Amino acid sequence: MSVPLVLYDNYARSLREFAPLDAAGPVRLYTCGPTVYDYQHIGNYRTFLFEDLLKRVLLWNGYRVRHVMNITDVGHLTSDADTGEDKMEKGARRTGRSAWDIAALYTQAFVDDARVLNILPPDILSRATDHIAEQIAFVADLEQRGYTYRTSDGIYFDTSRQADYGYLARLDRSGLEAGKRVDVGEKRNATDFALWKFSPPDSTRQMEWESPWGKGFPGWHIECSAMAQRYLGDYFDIHCGGEDHIPVHHTNEIAQTQARVGTRLANFWMHGYFLLANDTKMAKSAGEFLRIGALVDRGYDPLAFRYLCLTGHYRTQLNFTWEALDAATTGLARMRAAFHALPMDASAGANAGLLARVTAQVNDDLNAPRALALAWETLRGDLPGGVKRATLARFDDLFGFGLAAWQPADAAVPARIAALADARADARKARNWAEADRLRAELHAAGYDVEDKADGYAVKRRPS
Ligand code: AMP
Ligand code: ZN
Repeated sequence: MSVPLVLYDNYARSLREFAPLDAAGPVRLYTCGPTVYDYQHIGNYRTFLFEDLLKRVLLWNGYRVRHVMNITDVGHLTSDADTGEDKMEKGARRTGRSAWDIAALYTQAFVDDARVLNILPPDILSRATDHIAEQIAFVADLEQRGYTYRTSDGIYFDTSRQADYGYLARLDRSGLEAGKRVDVGEKRNATDFALWKFSPPDSTRQMEWESPWGKGFPGWHIECSAMAQRYLGDYFDIHCGGEDHIPVHHTNEIAQTQARVGTRLANFWMHGYFLLANDTKMAKSAGEFLRIGALVDRGYDPLAFRYLCLTGHYRTQLNFTWEALDAATTGLARMRAAFHALPMDASAGANAGLLARVTAQVNDDLNAPRALALAWETLRGDLPGGVKRATLARFDDLFGFGLAAWQPADAAVPARIAALADARADARKARNWAEADRLRAELHAAGYDVEDKADGYAVKRRPS
């Protein structure tokens, strides 16, 4: 009997058995994507890796998945309270490039990082700036339903219109209002948020659009509600993001959607808990931060970071240290070496009992640490080598380490070197000794030695 998939839903604050809303169609999944004013830091990738694990587990359970991710390329302000500058315009000033250029640059950097981390790409990667019309239509609808009001700097959502506003975060609204120390300006309630912001009257923004309310740009929350609804419908299966999205961004996505179509947008709300650095919050805005490129510069394999993330459950915070990354590097290297030492046996299948056990682990709210432990148990156990290999290859659909594709660094001879060695062998056959010697010297200069044997030759990289 198959084990049901159970996931933690933050809306219900409990574990719930997952069943797709549409039994015939794909599972509809929306994950909040990067704000592209700078590189993403490794904390952001912890969340993207949690979402990737979720997607792999859905696929493991035989579901098809329709995955939409947004690119926030406008409207995310430096403060969650709808004050401060647009992060894109600030990033443009920092780099001396246009907001459009940096959006393109950091979107590409994100796509590249996701690829080296073996993150399965979304079916739709949608830019907020490509969906301004949908966002304006959304706000216009909210206005017609009486949920909005105008201040001197924008159109705001009136959260007092919803009795259960903030339910996802279990916000204590009366407490918030009574204890509010922050200046809410012209906002009626501390929790009200911007749907449309006006361009400042005295300057031109790089990113701005005409709207029924005047020239300006959309608020950050409206983009996700509008794009999710456009691609996945009024009520879809799962919505994800990092834990910081619970009290503001996701709370407001739900508020808008409830006001417009009466649903809470998604059946399951799931959140990845933070990666900390030195036990404190990791922030891009703090200037110096850790990115995947910085790990590579220090000689780390990005997949060691993936391994590190899988050693912690997604619902607990994880502290990043170089020692932990070293340990993950060792773990991954050992797993790769152990896998490659196993014989390839086409007649050997994966062990059914172990597949059932790993299913039980990952279907228990994505328990990757226990699934990893089971992989080690399998490698150390006494099953035939071919069976172990076939079983681990299946587990790797969940882990995403690319075990089968991996090659030890010194085993593979680059194609250019192999071609030189072949040409040398041909020259010898033709008794063209001068050419053969020249090719040997060229190989030597490239760091390879060639050894002639009775039945051919071997090329070896010289130890450095
Ligand atoms: P952003 O680029 O700021 O929009 O964030 C992209 C994703 O990373 C969002 O889902 C955030 O919730 C998530 N995130 C931000 N900081 C961290 C962190 N330190 N650890 C894990 N996830 C994070
Ligand atoms: Zn979002």
